[in-house]
This record gives sequence, C-alpha cells and structure tokens, in this order.
Amino acid sequence: MEKRDFPAYLLYGERGCGLWDGLMRAAAALLCERTPVAGDPWQARACGECAGCHLLRAGTHPDLRVLVPPALGAELGLAQAEQTEQGAERRAAAGREIGIDDVRSLIDWAQSTSHRGGFKVALVHPLDAMAAPAANALLKLLEEPPASLCFFTGTHQLEKVLPTLRSRCSLRPWKGPGAADAVAELQRRGESDAAAVARWCRNAVFDPEPARGLEWTRRLLRQLAAGEAPQPDGVTPAVAIESLQKLSLDLQRVRAGLAPTYLQGFDEPLRQLAQRGDRGAWQAWWQRLAQAARHADFPLHAGLAVQAWVVELRQLCSQRAR
Ligand SMILES: [Zn+2]
Repeated sequence: MEKRDFPAYLLYGERGCGLWDGLMRAAAALLCERTPVAGDPWQARACGECAGCHLLRAGTHPDLRVLVPPALGAELGLAQAEQTEQGAERRAAAGREIGIDDVRSLIDWAQSTSHRGGFKVALVHPLDAMAAPAANALLKLLEEPPASLCFFTGTHQLEKVLPTLRSRCSLRPWKGPGAADAVAELQRRGESDAAAVARWCRNAVFDPEPARGLEWTRRLLRQLAAGEAPQPDGVTPAVAIESLQKLSLDLQRVRAGLAPTYLQGFDEPLRQLAQRGDRGAWQAWWQRLAQAARHADFPLHAGLAVQAWVVELRQLCSQRAR
C-alpha cells in the first residue's frame, strides 16, 4: 500500500485498553514481508514466520524504532539501546517523559533508507508524554515525513496532546477487549481466577496490574463480615482508595438490590454489610471517598488516611441498620 494512505495514526482509549498491543499489532502487520497490507493495517495479520516477523520478535528489526518514556520501557521490558545518554538525576526526573534527544535520534533514523526495502515504522507512545520542545521536534517530522515512514502513536489523554500534533494524525478510538476476550487474555497469561480479575479491572486487562487490590479487598470484606478487626496494610494508598471505591460501589448496588459489579461471588458478605449502618452515614462516606479518589496525589500521611478510611468503614459496618 502507499504510504500516503496512513502517514500517521493516533490511537486513543482508556487506560488498560491495550493501546500498546494495538500499536504493536499494526507495526507487525506492516513489517511482515508476506502479508500484503491494503488499507487498514489493523485488518492485516503478520504471518509470524517470515524474516521480518522473526526480527520483530527478536526485538532487532532495523526498520522499527520504538520511543517510549524510560519508565514505560522498563514496564514493557523493552531494551532501549538507542536511548541517548542522560545523567542519572535527569533520567529519573524524565522517567515518565520522552526526551528531545530521543526524538532527534528518531528523526535521524527516519531519514535513512529502509534496511529491508519495505516500510519503516516509528512507534511513539504515549504522545502526551512529551514536553513542548520534544513535541515541536516531532511535529517537524510529521509535517515532512520521509518516504516509506509510517508513524504509530497512542494516548490515554487525548486532550493533553498538542493540537498541532493531533491534526497531523489520523485519529482512531481504541476499544478495550470485551468480557470474553479479557478472560481469554488473562487465561493465556496463566491467571487462575480470570473471570473474577476481568470483572475487578472491568476488562482493562492490559493494565500493568489488573488484579491489584482484589485480594486486599476480599480479605477486608471477609474480616468485616466476620466482625473481625480489618488489617488495612498491604497496598499503596492509591490502590487502597481505588479498591475501597469499587467495594463502595458494590455495596451501593447490593443495597439497591442489584448484583455486584466488581466482587462477583461475594454477594452474601456484601449483602450482610450493606444491610448494616445508617443510610445517611453510608452516603456521607461514599461521597467523601469519591472526593478523595478524584485527587490524583495523596497527602503525606496517606497511609494514615487509608487506615482512617478502613476504621470508618468498620464503624459503619458494626452499626445496626436504621
Ligand atoms: Zn511475516
């Protein structure tokens, strides 16, 4: 296919929806030397057997260049040999950003001819993880893309992408997997409790830790239902708040006579707890929890705050229904 048909694609979707997977799939289809790509690269499938596919799998394809922030690279297990030298301090500070030096290095690479005579694929993700100088350098590349270059990028925060960059890309909403696909993906990874985890993360199985907080919440629920003192330790404050919110939503659902969304199979302890306590006190707790969850950064004594949330939850659960 002609390069002009897809100069640049920008995938966007919620966290955990598998943007990285989607980007890699399109890159693989274009770099496969047996699969003809006519039109949408997501409709094509890499053969998995040709020299191009082998190079891609080995992580050594010379016509693919991946640019991600160092922190994400580590998370994805990518060796970023081409990353430019930076001081340790600067690297730590820039851990969540794509630096301008790396963008410049990408531009140099983009000007060279294709090693294997096919497409060259630049994969930059996430597009919002860039300070203005890096974004502007990248913009120049997108304004005059070299022949045979294909550009794939993604974001979970479309509103944070520079409008000029956005306008150079063909936008594509990326839907996460449905329930069946999410369960299948978790099973493929050897997750024994796949259905429960898929529900817990609402099918966002490409999140780095889809099951985070699930065991903690189950334990909390069991302890509260048994009238034992709950042990709030074991998770970070952010995970605790997220988990308490899910628990809180399920308690509200069960109280309203609906099935739980997140904690399927725990209907009975949920029902026990939801029956207790004063309606007004529950509502106040739910509202304050939602408010706390909206603050991305937690206070210095966040650990204590979590303990306070759990103590308060226990108090609510030990009241008689009114
Ligand atoms: Zn192939």
